Parts: sequence; C-alpha cells; structure tokens
Amino acid sequence: MLLIKGGRVIDPAEGRDETGSIVIRDGRVADYLAGPDAPKTFDGAVIDAAGKWVLPGLIDMHVHLRDPGYEWKEDIRSGTAAAASGGFTSVVCMANTRPVNDHVAVTRYIREKAASAGSAEVFPVAAVTRGQKGEGMTDFSELFEAGAVAFSDDGVPIRSSLMLRRALEYARAFDFLLLDHAEDPELCDGGAANEGWTAHRLGLPGIPAAAEEIAISRDILLARFTGGRIHIQHVSTKTGVDLIRLAKGAGVNVTCETAPHYFTLTEAAIEGYDTNAKMNPPLRGEVDRMAILEGIADGTIDAIASDHAPHDAYVKRCEFTAAANGIIGLETALPLSMALLAGGGVTPLRLADLLSAAPARILGLSRKGTLGAGADADVTIVDPEVQWEFRESDVRSKSRNTPFFGWTMTGRAVAVIRGGRITHSLLEGTAADA
Ligand SMILES: [Zn+2]
Repeated sequence: MLLIKGGRVIDPAEGRDETGSIVIRDGRVADYLAGPDAPKTFDGAVIDAAGKWVLPGLIDMHVHLRDPGYEWKEDIRSGTAAAASGGFTSVVCMANTRPVNDHVAVTRYIREKAASAGSAEVFPVAAVTRGQKGEGMTDFSELFEAGAVAFSDDGVPIRSSLMLRRALEYARAFDFLLLDHAEDPELCDGGAANEGWTAHRLGLPGIPAAAEEIAISRDILLARFTGGRIHIQHVSTKTGVDLIRLAKGAGVNVTCETAPHYFTLTEAAIEGYDTNAKMNPPLRGEVDRMAILEGIADGTIDAIASDHAPHDAYVKRCEFTAAANGIIGLETALPLSMALLAGGGVTPLRLADLLSAAPARILGLSRKGTLGAGADADVTIVDPEVQWEFRESDVRSKSRNTPFFGWTMTGRAVAVIRGGRITHSLLEGTAADA
C-alpha cells in the first residue's frame, strides 16, 4: 500500500489537472482522492507530493538498450536504471541488437531479463525483416505472442516499397503497428550532417532533408493505400511535419514522434566537429526546429521519445565522418521537454500526453499512460521548479555520449514508482525499493 499525497495530479486520459492523492494497492492504482486533504491515517507508506506534479509513468517509445550483443554500451539493467532515473517507467526497445530481435528467442530474452533485472518495464519492438536485411519478413504473429509490441527495422531504413506494402497489409490484418525510420538510403549515402551551409563550411558530406521527407511521403502513401497504421520515428524536418499534418487531415492512419534534440538543438551544435551532436537523422536548421515546435503545439507530433542511443567512447572519439550516430537521452528527455512549457503552446497536461498517454495509446498499452483506477501503478513525480546541472556523475547509462553535460535544467523526476515499487527517489525519507 502506498499513498501519494496532495500533489498536482496531471492525467490527460482522465482529463484531470488538479490537486489530489493516489492510492496504490497490489501494483495497481486503487483509488483517486480529489483535493488537498488525504486520510490522516494510512496503513502503508506515504509520499508527500505537495508542490510536485504527479504524472502517469512516462513511456519512452524509442530506446536502444543494446542488449543482447552490445552490452559494453548498455544492457537491460543499466538502460532501465537510466530510464528510472530520468522519470520513465516503461521503455520500448528497438530491434537492432546482435542478434537482431527477429526471433521469439530474442524477444523472450529481453522480456525475461527486464522482468528480473529491470528498473522499468521493457516492451520490445521486433524487426520487420529478418536480420533487418530488408528481404524476408519476420513472423509478426509469433513475435507478438512472445511480447513484441510493434515492428520496426529502426537503424536501417526499409528500402523496398513492396516490402513495406506487404508488411503494412500483414500488420493491418492483425492490427499490429509498424514504426518506421524514414530515410532514403541512397540519398543519405556517406552523409554525416544536415546538408546545408554548416556542413559545407565544415567540409562534411551532407544528408538532405529530402531523404527523410521522401521516405515519410512513401510511408504515408502506402499507409493510405493499404489502410495500415504507421508511426513515423524521430521526425526532424519542417516538410516532414507538413506532410504528416496533411496526411492526418486527409484521414491517413499515421502518427509520429520527435526527439528532444530536434527541438532543442540545431546543426550549429556540430561546430567544432562535436561527435556528441552527430545523430541520424542529423540535427537540422532553425526553420526545422521551429516547425518541430509548431508540430508539437498543434498536435501533428503525437509523442516525444528520446531515441536513447548509447555508444562507447571508441566509436565517438574519432573523426566526425567515422563516428557512430546517436546520443543517450533517457536522463535528459523529461527536463528538455519541460522547456516546452516556457514558450507557451504546451501545457503540463499536453506534456503528460506527449510523454505518457500518447505512447500508451499508439502502442495499445491499455493499463499504461493513465492514473485511472485499475491502471498499473506507474507514477512519475516531478519537481517542476528545481534547477540542476546535468553532470557526468548523474549518468546511470553505461555510455556518456551526450551534448548536454553542463546544461542547467529546470524540472526533474524526484520519485518514480513502477508497479507499486519505488524505482527512483531523490525525496528525503523515501528510498528506492531494493
Ligand atoms: Zn532511427
């Protein structure tokens, strides 16, 4: 039994943003009590949430846990510890492991290891094609039975439109969800940074925005053609947002996410050849960044996901063109997203939707993303005012590839509860459960 007392309960699924208390029993939300007054006596632990936000547990729908196969970069234990520390109770992990998650044995391994060693619930995404090679399709039904929540070849684009058509048709028949890393591989070939003046001046080969936009267009057209459902991963360009807005207006079954770096940084961050600002899709221009902000504000962009991509120093401390793509993001996604509140356009209720309710809805996780009675007792308690500096010593991930060290952040997850157990706590008198 646990009582979270007198916090600002922000629960978009219940349309609730008010002071209240949450009662947790047997790993589920048992009750909601409106108002600042909670029972004077309570038979169980009490967390005083006065002055804090109480959100449905955050869900990061785009994470690379690197396990199995690249455990020196991250594993399920360290990756979910980073998740809990960043405020997340659930993470959705991509299939580009070694071996690739294209087989039930890999899906089951991830689920089982997460259940025994994880500080967050882990929902595996299985590959669309065997070995992510773009040729033979995986067995969606078998993988779904084993615990896969969606299908994506993320990390590798699906080159063939015919393959994507077949995958969408198959997915539609069973109401499975496809997530796509939208990229035209030929147009990107050899590129290391957003094609434009910055890359040109630094002498870096460019990745044109059109490479992403062509793939987004194709995905939208095939979703319309097949009636299948597609979710576009890590949208980074203005025209990409425009295309998705248009498609949604036309009734196409499409959703999308962006990552905090695309609304926080621009290609200016690669000055000095900082490989911690190298990612795929690359950081774009200011016009793109503004369009991402607009897409978030008007609802075109459904969700924010970190694209947490841990890498060791060996593949990052090298020449820019040779460096690996990606940054860690689980521990900065929440505070960077909270910066959206300052500019207006995004309310705390909408923020909870972007980081919790929307991912649950898109992925069909019915007991997640809400604090309604009967939901899993996944709760993220946030101090919205606290200012803190993000330091290397804060990092729970095994990797350190981030451009955000030394940044002053506002807002932080101060306690995280997953399935009724405390997985992270900075609150005095409240310790994480062993
Ligand atoms: Zn990707």
